[in-house]
Order: sequence, then structure tokens, then C-alpha cells
Amino acid sequence: MSVPFIDFKEQNRLIEDEVSSGFKKVFDKGDYILGEQAKIFEKAFARYCEAPYAVGVNSGTDALYLALAALDIQEGDEVIVPTHTFIATALCVSFCRAKPVFVDIEPKTYNIDPKSFEKAITKKTKAVIPVHIYGQPADMDEINAIAHKHKIKVVEDAAQAHGARYRSRRVGSLGDVACFSFYPTKSLGACGDAGMIVTNSKEIYDKAMMLRDYGRKGRYEHKIKGTNSRLDTLQAVVLNAKLKHLDQWNAMRAQAAAHYGELLNGVKGVQVPVLKSDRTHVYQTFAVRVAKRDEVMAKLQAQGISVLIHYPIPLHLQEAYAELGYKRGSFPVAESVADDIMSLPMFPHMTKTQVEKVVQALK
Ligand SMILES: *Cc1c(COP(=O)(O)O)cnc(C)c1O
Repeated sequence: MSVPFIDFKEQNRLIEDEVSSGFKKVFDKGDYILGEQAKIFEKAFARYCEAPYAVGVNSGTDALYLALAALDIQEGDEVIVPTHTFIATALCVSFCRAKPVFVDIEPKTYNIDPKSFEKAITKKTKAVIPVHIYGQPADMDEINAIAHKHKIKVVEDAAQAHGARYRSRRVGSLGDVACFSFYPTKSLGACGDAGMIVTNSKEIYDKAMMLRDYGRKGRYEHKIKGTNSRLDTLQAVVLNAKLKHLDQWNAMRAQAAAHYGELLNGVKGVQVPVLKSDRTHVYQTFAVRVAKRDEVMAKLQAQGISVLIHYPIPLHLQEAYAELGYKRGSFPVAESVADDIMSLPMFPHMTKTQVEKVVQALK
């Protein structure tokens, strides 16, 4: 029996009817751009995050870029980013012509290390982007306290953590502004690209609303230089249908994770995820550290077990950021994690037998 990395067939079956009738309504109405379903989804997702405002955009990358633009990040500014993340977390800084300043992560949770963050602050630092990596919230109270002391804005990259809680609050409401991706493989995924900016600030909300729509206020009245980055009404139909199931699907992921945890407990050479007690993990990705990773991966693949690496090269060692002059050795924790991290199959409807099959092969 082979085990796919992700299998959304069961999810699709559950929302099929609602999506087809929703699509038909949009076709009949023709409100493809900023239509009714998109507005309904913005409201529903804001409520889900327990935050007052949400702005639907084209992608998670655009959510990050427009959030930084709404904070007025610009040339000459520095933004602190953990080096162990997907590259979009840094690209949004570059798009604003600001400089990403990389910092190391914690060895247990793989999230940004608050001490490294504080050390990297300079007079030019304007913001920090904690990433809730794999689905576990970062140390937000510590990060907010440091940021507050130095008058730095906090932008959550919540692209992997829809629904996770930190000290009983949802991600998305923990900093100045939060960014989500609905890329198809995220735990809340569209049938294409989509993203969302979530915030408690009316000011950031108003600016993000203009930025995603050519900087306009009225139809032909342009207050600022914006762009075109709006959540499609058709994607919103899919997202509205899926959002109703998200808490249950996250619980199913947690169940599969717990099963992995039991079976892998004490297995030599395998480090399972460590969850801090004051938060929940939504297991968008179930990442383990494993000795002889590349060899183990090849053998798993040969047995039909699909595994991936998130991420094999930390951002400070990416060619795209060579100009910043970081070297191997700059961030030892992130570098050692990149060398032995491996993501196992994980999706809500994963069966116990599938988990067992993966563990058996891994052992
Ligand atoms: C997926 C992801 C993004 C980018 O989202 P897109 O919708 O693919 O543009 C940004 N940050 C992190 C941590 C992600 O996992």
C-alpha cells in the first residue's frame, strides 16, 4: 500500500454539492470580482480568527506584501524574518525595497527564537514577521513585548496555521496584522491561489482595502498607488464551503499526529514535533527530524511513502539572497534542522492504517 503526501478526495466529496450550486449562483450573477461570496468569506474568516477585519487578496505572498505596504515599509527599512520558512516570508520584504534580516530558530518548535530577534534589532528595524511554522504558533507574547519596547510592528505569517490557538487566542489576532495563504495544499485551501490579510486595526484595514484595488477609494478616485490583488469570488465559494469543516479537519489532523506520536515514541533517530503547552498545533505539516535523512527518504519513496522536505535550504543560504553575504554557520540551529527535517504524509482523512504503514516503513 502506498501512502500519498496529501489526499483531499474525501474533503472534496464533502463540499462538492455546495461548491457546484455556489458556482452556478456566481455564474448567474456574474459578480466575479469582489462579489457577494468574497465579502461573505472575508466576514466569516475574520470571525473565525476572532478579529474584526479581513481583506481577501490574490495569494499569501500578496497578503504579506500588502500588509508590509500598509505599514509603510520602504527602502532603507529592515524587517526581521526567521531563516527557516518558505521564501515568500522574505520576498515580500524585498518587494517593498526593504532589507530582510534573517534570524535563527528554536531547536524544539522550529519557530523564530525571540532572543535572536531582539539581538538583530537596529535603528532601521521596522517590523518582524514571526511564522507559525508547520501549524504551531510562535512565542507571540515574548515577540510582542520586544517589538513594543522597540516600536516595531508585528506581522504574523499564519500561512500554515489557520485555526491554531496561542494562550486561547486564535492566530490572526496576535500581532498588528496577519497573513494567510489559501494555496491548495494549505489546511484551508482554494482551487487556485488566494490569500487574506487579517487585522485588529481599522487603519491597516482601510489601507489594505485600497492597496489591493488600485489604491482607490471611489471608482476613479485613487488615494495611493495600489495594485490589483483581489480574492476571486469563485475561490471564495470553495473557501466558504471548506471553512465550515476547518475545526473538524484540524482535529482530525491532530488525531493523526497523536497516532504518529504514539507509534514513533522512543524510536531511535526520529524526533517528533514538540508542542508547547500553552498553544495548539494544527499540523499543516507533520515534520520529524531523522538521522541519515536523505537515505531514509529515498527508501521511503521506494516503498511508495511520499515524503517532502520543508525546507532543505534556509533562506540565508538561498542564491536569491546571496547579496546579503550570509555564510554557512550564520544560523546553526536552522542549518542543522534543514539537514535532517522531513515531512511525513498528513491530511485530515488519513487513516490509522496509513499512519501505521508510514511508521512501519520509517522504522
Ligand atoms: C504558503 C506560504 C506562503 C505563501 O503563500 P502563497 O499563497 O503560496 O503565495 C507564505 N509563507 C508561508 C510560511 C507559507 O507556507
